[in-house]
Amino acid sequence: MRAFNFSAGPAALPVEVLEQAASEMLDWHGSGMSVMEMSHRGREFTSIIETALADLRELLGVPANYKIMFLQGGGIAENAIIPMNLLGKRSKANYVVTGSWSNKSQNEARKYGDVHIAASTEGSYTRIPSFDTWQVERDAAYLHLCSNETIDGVEFNAFPDLGELPIVADASSHILSRPLDVSRFGVVYGGAQKNIGMAGVTIVIARDDLLDQMMPICPSAFTWKTVAANDSMFNTPPTYAIYIAGLVFQWLKRQGGLAAIEQKNIAKADLLYETIDSSDFYVNKVERSSRSRMNVPFFLADETLNEAFLAGAKARRLLQLKGHKSVGGMRASIYNAVQIDAVQALVDYMKEFERTRA
Ligand code: PMP
Repeated sequence: MRAFNFSAGPAALPVEVLEQAASEMLDWHGSGMSVMEMSHRGREFTSIIETALADLRELLGVPANYKIMFLQGGGIAENAIIPMNLLGKRSKANYVVTGSWSNKSQNEARKYGDVHIAASTEGSYTRIPSFDTWQVERDAAYLHLCSNETIDGVEFNAFPDLGELPIVADASSHILSRPLDVSRFGVVYGGAQKNIGMAGVTIVIARDDLLDQMMPICPSAFTWKTVAANDSMFNTPPTYAIYIAGLVFQWLKRQGGLAAIEQKNIAKADLLYETIDSSDFYVNKVERSSRSRMNVPFFLADETLNEAFLAGAKARRLLQLKGHKSVGGMRASIYNAVQIDAVQALVDYMKEFERTRA
């Protein structure tokens, strides 16, 4: 029996995707081999990567003047790869710090250029600071933000208009959970192990004019211009992770695309936040307008009950609910593949636990 899996990532995948991958494991489409055994340059894998790219472009509505690349290294490697690709002509970058992940990003960027903190909520990551308080340096190369903070449960619902200054967004933990107007950004990137598929592939969507700003030290395998010119085949790409991402894109299209999945995600998040807000037993500290639909951190008002809560959850097959070690408490990640019945099972359990322990 499959558990209700609330992991922040690697996270639950759609069961149809896992079943399809299982059925194609030994012999992909009559090729006589699994996807992980075939040449990345062969006809079979070429069709897999091209379909995945086209489906992702269609799902997100990526404009023609943006390249979609499959890289490796995850979000953490991008914290270095981004400045190395963008600080070749201007050495300064703006960073907005709204949680643990954007804080890590600005810290790493300091190795490669001058980091200017345009806004920060350090000390209490519970809101997106209003845009009119941001102190943006216009002569910088870009402004980086994390559009959904996985650990702190803070999400951007809108983005500022910074004119010529490109916005670079770490969308790792909410990409494909809702429509996103890519044309508002210079670069959108994310690791795959939440809403896209399995760990091992990083998606980078970059506007064409930003492919020519790299620092000379940027490694060739991470130079976007080189990767894009070679259709993500400069080095051997993470073939199986790209294949799984492709199956997820097809699954998303069958769900009706991003506008349809967004409605499901709103319903799931509303159900969970309403349960938290309607009781004094559970607490979520994030301002309502900045709450993440994907990652819902919550605390028991009486933290001595944490272990009992987690044990009871585990007994009901509600798994991976422990909060990140840096914030404590609980966290339910409810990505696209987590269905409303999982959230319903969680809130039923939360109410029962409150009744019996309050
Ligand atoms: N950014 C965000 C928003 C994340 O959630 C994560 C992973 N949880 C990362 C970056 C880092 O990803 P990775 O471990 O794949 O490098």
